[in-house]
Amino acid sequence: MGTLIIAEKPELGRAIAAAIDGPTKESHGVIVKKNVVITWAYGHLLRLCEPQEYNEKYAKWTMEDLPICFDDWKLVPDGNKKERVEQIRKLIEENDTIIHAGDPDDEGQFLIDEILDYVGNTKPVRRVYINDNTPDNIKRAFHELLDNEPLRSIGRSAYARAVADYVVGINYSRLFSLGLRMKGLSVGRVQSPTLGLIVARDEAIDNHIKTKYYELEMNAYCEDTVVPLKFKGKAELLEDEKHILNREVLEEIQSQLNDAKKQLKVSEKEMEQRPPLPFNLAKLQAHMNTKYGFDLSKTDRITQTLRDRHQAITYNRSDSQYLKAEHYKEAPAVIGKVMEKLGKSYPVDYTIRSQCFQDKFVTAHHAIIPTRSDFDIRKLSADERKVYEEICHFYIMQFLPSMKKRQLQALIRLPQGELRGVSTFVIEEGYHQYFNKAMDHEETNEEETARFDLSPGSYEAWLKDGRILEKETNPPKRYTQATLIRDMTSIAKYVKDKEIKELLKKKDKDKKGENGSIGTSATRSQIVETLLKRGYVEMKGKQIISTRLGKDFYHLLPPEVKTADLTAKWWVIQEDIKEGKAEVKDLVDSVLENFIPHLSQDFNQLRTHVTYPIEDDRAEIGKCPLCGNKIVEKEKNFGCVNWRNGCKFAIWKNDPFLSEIGKTPNQAMAGKLLKDGYCKVKLTDENGNEVIKVLQLGTRNGYAVYRLIDLPQK
Ligand SMILES: [Zn+2]
Repeated sequence: MGTLIIAEKPELGRAIAAAIDGPTKESHGVIVKKNVVITWAYGHLLRLCEPQEYNEKYAKWTMEDLPICFDDWKLVPDGNKKERVEQIRKLIEENDTIIHAGDPDDEGQFLIDEILDYVGNTKPVRRVYINDNTPDNIKRAFHELLDNEPLRSIGRSAYARAVADYVVGINYSRLFSLGLRMKGLSVGRVQSPTLGLIVARDEAIDNHIKTKYYELEMNAYCEDTVVPLKFKGKAELLEDEKHILNREVLEEIQSQLNDAKKQLKVSEKEMEQRPPLPFNLAKLQAHMNTKYGFDLSKTDRITQTLRDRHQAITYNRSDSQYLKAEHYKEAPAVIGKVMEKLGKSYPVDYTIRSQCFQDKFVTAHHAIIPTRSDFDIRKLSADERKVYEEICHFYIMQFLPSMKKRQLQALIRLPQGELRGVSTFVIEEGYHQYFNKAMDHEETNEEETARFDLSPGSYEAWLKDGRILEKETNPPKRYTQATLIRDMTSIAKYVKDKEIKELLKKKDKDKKGENGSIGTSATRSQIVETLLKRGYVEMKGKQIISTRLGKDFYHLLPPEVKTADLTAKWWVIQEDIKEGKAEVKDLVDSVLENFIPHLSQDFNQLRTHVTYPIEDDRAEIGKCPLCGNKIVEKEKNFGCVNWRNGCKFAIWKNDPFLSEIGKTPNQAMAGKLLKDGYCKVKLTDENGNEVIKVLQLGTRNGYAVYRLIDLPQK
């Protein structure tokens, strides 16, 4: 009998094995070392039961069954992971002590606890916290084992969030799908506020009114130098807080200043621009989207391959951009290998200790960096190589000098404001010399160019060449996947409610770089995928734009699910669960409390606010004379595809008027009527003679009407 270590992921399991002395042999996901057996999960092995697994009746969606909620939310093995669970059950039986090596966060605690609970473990469990897979760190962690029992409440809080998310998902999605009579509408705690970000941005663009505004520029002549200056007005001159909208205001200032002699002050400052921090997943996804147009899930997938198949990078779904002192020690070995692989050499200086090396900012994970592994770089696909290189470059940069700049500022104070000019010189390119292309996501700043050169001091200057420029305000920019994921990690800035805003920030207080976020590194790309799949948003080139359905649906959602409020409020209850002051039920109850009042909502009224998407791939017979949409052949009529939005137009095959004259419309006849508004028909008159008449199609109160007229005389 020995000790069983259960790690969260294969990578960690193998790293633990490597940190223990003795040869390592792996078979079927198990490594045996003297008295120690090491195995691992692959993410969550269990999933929450679906409602129909409790009771078959829930397979059919009905209003009467809502809200759907159970006292005990069961977990079952997820699909093909059942075997793994059974294998772990056997290993537990064969050993007498268990060590829980889930990731050191609430999700990691839950991930192993749920397996132990599912197999009904009764053996003592110890807990190890490993947030970094280096051998030294692993050895140290095993000297600081904790009793798992008091830590289980941390896992309960993750379980509570999973259950509550599920309760939101099934209840709100069913309610709105049934109420609005649309299949497959989906609502989610993270998904819906993310949709909200996109809708709000698109509506700001739609509602933007272009406004003309004016700027004044002048040149100051002093000694042999021309200094270009821009006028910056005092607050009282700015009509919309930013701009001067009245040209005459500037014309008057210009005429006062032209040819005037003024005191010009020049000051100087040195600036140091450090390289950007190494990536976390969100930053990498944003970067790859901007630079190569990779969508979020593509980058996520590639990092998974780089880590699992090639062992080329460290843990990929990290939310941290920081590293530990051990990484700093290992850097020469790692970077040496990396440069060799890339076939490039950079003048790295290992005495530079970048601000990324701060143990206290490392969360459960650390920044994504290359490993020392001996994988064959030629085996990477072109896209995998792109991602790998960016990760390497951002790490190598940490050991290159900062970019150094000298900035001059020229200033003339005026009663109405000031005239200002900026000129910037790069003294040392530093890391930028090698990786300026890596920075293409940074906005280029117009103050970053060299415009004039003067020593600091006070000068007498002539003002000349005044010119007024006419400009126009621009609407905000559409979201790209890159800017969207950035805003998901800092949604708090859009939250108006002060209390909620503070809570969101407090939630992320230990995560540098995430400030009031929704979603997690592991889930954000799926959220965006879901929005696309549901037709709430669509991609137009790089831009991500909300559809009509997305906008309508978002506006109909109740406030508690369409804002980041739930994430903030749940966090408070989760903290209480961690401390044993609240139960899973408390979180679920808070969801139901919000949900139940919506059951009495008037959906007839809400339905009028939705424009239903028109999806019908049947062949077009013609265009609807009322709404212009497609007319398709159905069983009993040639009808408009826009019926869900209230268009009732149809040419009925059994229309009383047409039956009366002995006609049943076919495709050709319906097509002609829709195209020209009439068709010729052969009829038999009371004497049995064949006559040709004109059948006209019109509309009245939204329905088709017909009349017969004589053929015009030639
Ligand atoms: Zn129509």
